[in-house]
Amino acid sequence: MRTIEHWINGERVGGDRLAPVYDPATGERQAQVVLADGTGVDLAVAAAAKAFGDWSQSSLTQRARIMFKFRELLERHEDELARIITSEHGKVLDDARGEVVRGREVVEFACGIGQLLKGEFSDQVSGGVDAYSFRQPLGVCAGITPFNFPVMVPLWMHPIAIATGNTFVLKPSERVPGASALIAELYAEAGLPPGVFNVVNGDKAAVDALLEHPDVAAVSFVGSTPVASHIHERASAFGKRVQALGGAKNHAVVLPDADLDFAADQITAAAYGSAGQRCMAISAVVAVGDAGDGLVDRLAERARRIRVGPGDRADSEMGPVITDEARERIRSYVARGAADGAVLLVDGRDLGGPGFFVGPCLLDGVTREMDVYRDEIFGPVLVVLRAGSLDEAIALVNANPYGNGTAVFTRGGEAARRFQREVTVGMIGVNVPIPVPMAFHSFGGWKSSLFGDTHVHGPEGVRFYTRAKAVTTRWPQSRETASLSFPTAN
Ligand code: NAD
Repeated sequence: MRTIEHWINGERVGGDRLAPVYDPATGERQAQVVLADGTGVDLAVAAAAKAFGDWSQSSLTQRARIMFKFRELLERHEDELARIITSEHGKVLDDARGEVVRGREVVEFACGIGQLLKGEFSDQVSGGVDAYSFRQPLGVCAGITPFNFPVMVPLWMHPIAIATGNTFVLKPSERVPGASALIAELYAEAGLPPGVFNVVNGDKAAVDALLEHPDVAAVSFVGSTPVASHIHERASAFGKRVQALGGAKNHAVVLPDADLDFAADQITAAAYGSAGQRCMAISAVVAVGDAGDGLVDRLAERARRIRVGPGDRADSEMGPVITDEARERIRSYVARGAADGAVLLVDGRDLGGPGFFVGPCLLDGVTREMDVYRDEIFGPVLVVLRAGSLDEAIALVNANPYGNGTAVFTRGGEAARRFQREVTVGMIGVNVPIPVPMAFHSFGGWKSSLFGDTHVHGPEGVRFYTRAKAVTTRWPQSRETASLSFPTAN
């Protein structure tokens, strides 16, 4: 059976502890992945720490040129990367290509590193004195990523960390390790020196070793909220800079003046695309006033029409979920929702066949006390709640502990403006159901969807992977008298 190994210091490295990698469309094992323990992590961090010496001294032009080459290689290998994603994650090929493109956009942003790292200079802050500030890399940075975007989420991190002069150790999800192995080879082909980008595969043991390692300066994490909170606490306790993005429950608020056909199309795509396994998936609809029944009819009709099948089949619109356990968890949530009094309008629980398939599910009459609303289900389950007014809808969104993304559907600018100003959520769409920011903005949620201060990629990513230095200079022409008083400008 094919074995997916680590990538350390420009070479593949094996190990004894192994875990299966499944094809969710067939339910069969397709490969095995090596799981690192502390020793594997030590090797990768040592390689990254050694490479930091030269890499942090490389010129901005050299780093930018490697990013340009890496970007070309990502484009050339787009189909290959998408096929690996589909075979390990299950999402349909077109969706997988979309994530490769969105990830590549971060590399395009990182190609402008010369512009992004320009410092600030103040001439003559005092007589004969100038002041300037600039930013320097941190050292070895680690990235720990989830299963649902095997290429895009790691690409939110490493291009910016590397372009800013850091070295990087990626610990991808052990369920989808194949794409990171190819990414490592593409970096090497682009001319990135050995040790600058490393991949250690593994589970909690590898993560804990990274969090405790004295030579890891910063940790970027994306995954579920309980793990994000643990990572934030643990990495902070070990003195590291940390950003930890967590889970979500994203609401689409539909106002009575919205175009209901448009809203239903958009929400259906955002709820069931990638089998609902996106952190920006819409998982709760808040139908305001008269929007309710007309919207629910349209959602049900569209959900029933979705073609579920293997991700590499041209006519599939939605693939399987990631594991058998995930399918069971999703089924049990739907059963619990119905038992709690919700109306199960579309029931995709029993699709049959091999593979980890579960079809679209739609529940109406859901209330905020039900588990099906309170918990992140992370599957193709959409719940509908009703609200009497925009105020009530905003209060509902804000009472939810998550604050990743949300969307409002309306024809009214005044309501849209109020919504975007008043919701306690990090990313907001107005008639846009999945408002994932472009690479030159930053991505991040609020509340239990992000622990730490900075969002990922864009300007905040550059800040996260660098720290500031402020320099004050004087080139005295003559001997000036020094005073014991605190210096002020003259
Ligand atoms: P997960 O939290 O189970 O795993 C994420 C990473 O943490 C993996 O690399 C995994 O190996 C590691 N991990 C798992 N359990 C651990 C533990 N106890 N201690 C240390 N490390 C551990 O998440 P997942 O199931 O892979 O991904 C789905 C979750 O990710 C969802 O909650 C989704 O909302 C979230 N997500 C969030 C965003 C965002 O931007 N906020 C983006 C994508 C996914």
